[in-house]
Amino acid sequence: MNSCAVEGCGKTVKAKGLCAMHHQRLRRHGDPMFSKTLMERKACQKNGCGEPVLARGFCRKHYYFQRRTGQLAPLAEPQIHSYN
Ligand SMILES: [Zn+2]
Ligand SMILES: [Zn+2]
Repeated sequence: MNSCAVEGCGKTVKAKGLCAMHHQRLRRHGDPMFSKTLMERKACQKNGCGEPVLARGFCRKHYYFQRRTGQLAPLAEPQIHSYN
């Protein structure tokens, strides 16, 4: 009995050396490890923010700020007092 080729999975192989779940991911996404990349949440690209990314590399706050102003948020945000 073979087990899934994905490290740490260990389930019984269904097809192509992968278990049913990972084989389905391979078919759907072309990558059996697809969910792992999804789970690695990216952080906002703005310096010192670190909030999870909503879109275009920015968190919710900075994404809407960028959309509203049509540019990248400035490094200093003097009008936001509740931040610190
Ligand atoms: Zn598996
Ligand atoms: Zn941010």
